[in-house]
Amino acid sequence: MSERVAVIGAGPAGATAAYCLARAGADVDVYEASDGVGGMARSIDLWGQTVDIGPQRFESSDPRVNELWLEVIGGDYEMVARRTRVLVDGRLYDYPLRAGNALRNLGALEAARCLAGYARQRLRPRARDAADSLESWLVSRFGERLYRRLWAKYPEKLWGIGPEELDAGLAGRCLRGGGEQFPHPRQGTGEVYARMCDFVEKQGGRVHLDTPVARLVLDGARVTGVQLNTAEIYEYDHVVSSMPLTLLAGRLPDVPPAVAAANAKLTFRNTVVVYLRTTAESVFPDTWIDVPGPGPRTVRITNFDNWVPSMRHGERETVLALEYRCNGDEEFWRWDDARCVALARRELAATGLVRPAEIIDGEVLRVPKSHPVYRRGYRRHLRLVEDHVRRLGGLQVIGRYGAFRYADQGQSILMGLLAAENVRHGAGHDLWALDGAAAHPRPSRITATGLA
Ligand SMILES: Cc1cc2nc3c(=O)[nH]c(=O)nc-3n(C[C@H](O)[C@H](O)[C@H](O)COP(=O)(O)OP(=O)(O)OC[C@H]3O[C@@H](n4cnc5c(N)ncnc54)[C@H](O)[C@@H]3O)c2cc1C
Repeated sequence: MSERVAVIGAGPAGATAAYCLARAGADVDVYEASDGVGGMARSIDLWGQTVDIGPQRFESSDPRVNELWLEVIGGDYEMVARRTRVLVDGRLYDYPLRAGNALRNLGALEAARCLAGYARQRLRPRARDAADSLESWLVSRFGERLYRRLWAKYPEKLWGIGPEELDAGLAGRCLRGGGEQFPHPRQGTGEVYARMCDFVEKQGGRVHLDTPVARLVLDGARVTGVQLNTAEIYEYDHVVSSMPLTLLAGRLPDVPPAVAAANAKLTFRNTVVVYLRTTAESVFPDTWIDVPGPGPRTVRITNFDNWVPSMRHGERETVLALEYRCNGDEEFWRWDDARCVALARRELAATGLVRPAEIIDGEVLRVPKSHPVYRRGYRRHLRLVEDHVRRLGGLQVIGRYGAFRYADQGQSILMGLLAAENVRHGAGHDLWALDGAAAHPRPSRITATGLA
């Protein structure tokens, strides 16, 4: 008889695990709290067009991830030319920075000062007093003056705490470079995960939407099933979880006080995405613009006009998305839609990129727990929680908030794929030890014609 597996969450991590398990002949139930699949990487229909949740650039160098992505999407993708800039004090800087553009924006004197600061930093790196903080990483990369000018306010906008309090492990993540081009599904990034879930159902598995899992069911130190919010209990041979780690761990029986205290110290930021419908065509040439400076509250503006033409379904209007970050207990998280849209309209109009009259509608999407907060010292707390969860048999923990990892789509897919191998073959992959930054020994990339 095939093994019975419950997968919690149908985002990239959960959908991948379910897909790989169904492909290998397991009997799979996917439990998804929301009314659709794809998690934070789902695509939505808005004003006749398909849009993603912010800029969902899929990029992985891992051949296992890329092969799977291509297996699912087939040829239904296009290469998108990445173009991004950084908006500070009303000026647009190329990113990665280019000398000519920086010189024009900063003026000769200030550019010379920034350059001198950068050179000083390279010659005499700052003392290691805060070497593990995001601030020290940014200063070492840009020099003190340029850092203060462009990036100093960004970490606080993103994570709600100062850069000196943030772990340097966030560094590469908030200022990711990456390739000049990346592949994007013709029907939006969520198409990959929708197809994975369709496949699970075709194989006889079940995808239960609007069905949040409340807690794991245990027999001693073995997970034997899941309990839904409705109190119903279902038994399984294995459970793969991508629900928030803090929720999963906090609801285990007999959590030792030290683990409970560590669990409470692991926090997340929420994202509010405000989509604006504009009558303007094209608006600006970038795929997205980062907004790190003080002034506007938004952290990023995505322009879906510059992704894949088929996502527009022939519509000529341009849909833009302004992202905002906040904590769950902040008043901003409770603002009603009209207030969020009014703010986004004001901030977009103030950039001068669009005329106010061209902004004709707005929609709001709230994404709870979108970003784990890597406060300095968080690793100690995470380790305690990990150790407590790790001892449970029959359980695989994966995903962005599932494992409190700053995982992008590629890393979430990898976790799902390896979790399925653990379940099916007892492969023994240590999912907790996965390091998203580690390069695969056989790197690959997706091009217009397939894998290279
Ligand atoms: C604004 C924004 C921009 C991003 N840009 C990029 C980008 O450019 N490139 C990139 O690679 N990644 C990007 N990401 C990150 C990417 O979306 C995530 O890495 C990916 O979605 C994580 O997959 P996941 O399956 O771990 O989690 P999720 O996508 O969050 O999926 C988890 C699923 O579990 C469900 N769930 C939660 N609790 C329960 C429960 N108790 N019971 C049942 N179901 C539950 C949720 O509803 C959700 O559907 C971005 C994210 C955001 C928010």
